[in-house]
Amino acid sequence: MRSSTVYLRPISCLACGQQYRPGAIEWQMGELAICHTCWQGLGWLQGPSCVHCGRAMEGDLSSARCGDCAVRRGSVLHGQRSLLTYNPLNRQLLYRYKYWGEVQLYTFFGQLMVLGFKRYYDASVKGKSWSLWKGWSRVFAKEATRPSIQLLTYVPLHESRLYERGFNQVELLGRILSKQLNLPMVTLLQRVKATVKQSKQGRGGRIQSLDGAFAPLPLPTQLLMGIEPDQPCQLLLLDDLYTTGSTLEHCAQVLQASYPQWQIYGLTLIRAGGQSPIKLMR
Ligand SMILES: [Zn+2]
Ligand SMILES: [Zn+2]
Repeated sequence: MRSSTVYLRPISCLACGQQYRPGAIEWQMGELAICHTCWQGLGWLQGPSCVHCGRAMEGDLSSARCGDCAVRRGSVLHGQRSLLTYNPLNRQLLYRYKYWGEVQLYTFFGQLMVLGFKRYYDASVKGKSWSLWKGWSRVFAKEATRPSIQLLTYVPLHESRLYERGFNQVELLGRILSKQLNLPMVTLLQRVKATVKQSKQGRGGRIQSLDGAFAPLPLPTQLLMGIEPDQPCQLLLLDDLYTTGSTLEHCAQVLQASYPQWQIYGLTLIRAGGQSPIKLMR
């Protein structure tokens, strides 16, 4: 078989399942590919957004913060950003990865995590030098100021959930990010309280049930050159889905109590309610 024949072999889109010629593929890594239409439909968060939590804002832009962040007091997070706004397509893909155990999708979500990092947190990024894919320039705008992230960590699962699922979906994505960005990632938290599935609770119940859910783990300083518990450090906390922000906030509070000198930022793949939170809650 000639190599050109191999190259032109159709490949199926991991989202819609249809077969495409390479020209109609927007993203590909090995056997995983996304067609142009599905890539466009991933729900990229864009346009004006809250300076604190990254929620897309429409209408009245007189305040730089969204309604939630304007009234929320004492957030220990210095900022949080998401890459996508929750929609049926990314919901289905995340579901397949997390609950159906299609672990190969971790490559795809891991690359989205890298994309999110480069979009919001890569201090070295300048102009077009951060062009990874052809869709990049349509989707991304430059952030004004960027922290210099030194360390990565992630929201842990309770061991019973970990046992049930077999993997922590966020930790896997963090590993890809860590390797590709050459940034250390450590486990700094453990989930000591199993909580009722968040999707089955209202907002009040969710905030309450997370009290005492996370506990700190010791910092493995022997692995981390130049990072000390009592010296300034810019830490990025990873999660897959941002709903009310209470999970990230609880984790950040526990970390901040252990490391008062550190600045903690958040990065999540998908923001539920990013475009029209009020409509979603009805
Ligand atoms: Zn597709
Ligand atoms: Zn906000």
